[in-house]
Amino acid sequence: MVSKGDFHCHSTASDGILSPVELVKLAYEQGVRVMALTDHDSTEGLEEARGAIEPDFTLIPGVELGTDIPGAEIHMLGLFLDPDQPELQEILKKLRDGRLGRGEGIVKKLQEMGKEISWEQVRRIAGEASVGRPHIAQALLDNGEVETIKEAFDKYIARNGPAYVERDKMTPVEAVETLVRMGAIACIAHPRDLENLDGMLAELKAAGMVAMEVYYKDYAPDEVERLRQLAEKHDLLPLGGSDYHGLHGPDEPFPGGQHTPVPEASIEALLRLGNERAR
Ligand SMILES: [Zn+2]
Ligand SMILES: [Zn+2]
Repeated sequence: MVSKGDFHCHSTASDGILSPVELVKLAYEQGVRVMALTDHDSTEGLEEARGAIEPDFTLIPGVELGTDIPGAEIHMLGLFLDPDQPELQEILKKLRDGRLGRGEGIVKKLQEMGKEISWEQVRRIAGEASVGRPHIAQALLDNGEVETIKEAFDKYIARNGPAYVERDKMTPVEAVETLVRMGAIACIAHPRDLENLDGMLAELKAAGMVAMEVYYKDYAPDEVERLRQLAEKHDLLPLGGSDYHGLHGPDEPFPGGQHTPVPEASIEALLRLGNERAR
């Protein structure tokens, strides 16, 4: 059964395979009538997507932010964002540039340890690609600081190595606070497998989160029911989506193809919240 609402989809503006226009068309064909475009750290696809919508189709501007807590990665959706806010775009750009900042941080640590390496050299090795640790390892190898790539990782840049730098990400609470400040509705994404979910929901709710994914892609009915009860307990609006990327082969559910459709009441409540914000 197709869900009329799908509040989690990706386009080529991040790592989806369909352009925003193709995505909207596919969702509409499937029977979706309310859809959020939630690309990773980007709202670039929204303008194009808007150009493709039918009169009986509502497009919700959204985004998906990656956040970190020790040992786990948590994704936070922001719905009903205003993409024209300069502060929002600044934050998203910083998140997209995170990999670059991290590479520079690692090189700086290596220099402080007395190793011969420069950021320019690493950039040259990476070429068009975004800088990753293998490029830094290659520079160390080229400069005779190590004898193998593996040695560079083992001695310096492996996770918890002396020159390792964490990716620069927000915590889930910071992501919620940022989204709230931007006037968006914060919704935790695919929370099924998170440890201590109950405690985390309480903390995020206190930070201003109002919704939670319950009717996600392939969640089975008993999992949906467990999450629905948690949403009820914390007074969070139960939403969900297909998290469609188009990357995962023929079994990947299309937009609106969640095992359990998002209930009509949730769709209406979300649209009401969105309208209140627009006023
Ligand atoms: Zn995600
Ligand atoms: Zn996603």
